[in-house]
Amino acid sequence: MTKKLLLMHTGGTLGMTGNRPTPLQPEAYASTVHRFVPELRTIADVDFEILFNLDSSDLQPEQVEQIAAHVHARYRDYDGFVIIHGTDTMAYSAAALAFLLRGLAKPVILTGSQRPLSEVRSDAKSNLIAACVLAAETVPIPEVAVFFGTVLLRGCRTTKVHTVHLDAFASPNCPPLAHVGLDVERGTHIRSPGAVLAPLGTLAHDIVAMRLLPGLDSKHLLGLLSQPVRGIVLEAFGLGNIPVRGRPIEPFLRAAAARNLPVVLTTQCLFGGVRPELYEGGRLALTTGAIAAGDMTVEAAAMKLAVLLGAEADVNTVRREFAVDWAGERTHLPGEA
Ligand code: ASP
Repeated sequence: MTKKLLLMHTGGTLGMTGNRPTPLQPEAYASTVHRFVPELRTIADVDFEILFNLDSSDLQPEQVEQIAAHVHARYRDYDGFVIIHGTDTMAYSAAALAFLLRGLAKPVILTGSQRPLSEVRSDAKSNLIAACVLAAETVPIPEVAVFFGTVLLRGCRTTKVHTVHLDAFASPNCPPLAHVGLDVERGTHIRSPGAVLAPLGTLAHDIVAMRLLPGLDSKHLLGLLSQPVRGIVLEAFGLGNIPVRGRPIEPFLRAAAARNLPVVLTTQCLFGGVRPELYEGGRLALTTGAIAAGDMTVEAAAMKLAVLLGAEADVNTVRREFAVDWAGERTHLPGEA
């Protein structure tokens, strides 16, 4: 049976003409998409909507909430959703949507391109076709995912790894959900459909991600605490290590704990995750209250924090929920509780 898909445009290079996002006329843009990609009609019954047309660097949490609300509102009407999105913040939106749309039983696939659809040598057409093919699979892939190049990646595991290459995304700690080559090869770890879609939530935006540098003085971090910051993602070294000598980070962690401010510990490494208990610095971070994010990406850690704080979670709830799997965002590492 022909599947029904909703193709939603939010912006990015795919729909750009020239270098800047321009206001799009829904009718004209829809017919442009169909003119450049007539194959879409053979894949599924595709409806087209423009939510907004932004360079994704300009995207705010409110717009990501709008995307989630739109999927919610149209959920019963379609078999799958494809979202055209700029690449710059696609990994953040994908993670946020994965968390906001917990309990999903249908595919929600974000895609975009490095070159506009209207260019002769463009990755837009192939990405769009593959995203729609995957969203219309007979056995649904019930996840928020990113399709780019040749791979479908779990949204809350994705990170942008290249500024110019056509395979711009990776999910370092999670194999692709599917490879699209001669055939569509599906991974065995695709999640089972959820029973009920979670009620819509909101995204907090007073969240800061800080990357530790050798020599970084705690006073710069302490300065943050005089601002209305609600949560911090600390990108630590290696397995979740922080300096304990020279210029220690402990004063900042203690001050954050005293204010009940969640500090989530991630790693600067692309592969693997934090196991802070293995080194003195990491152990100290844990005893001062830092929350270990396992092998979550910084994007996913920040967006999970945004959803939790959007629901007014306190630090203990944040700690508890970071140990709980919401959408396949982390692997429980050997030795971890
Ligand atoms: N600046 C663009 C965006 O993120 C880049 C792209 O779409 O590839 O919207």
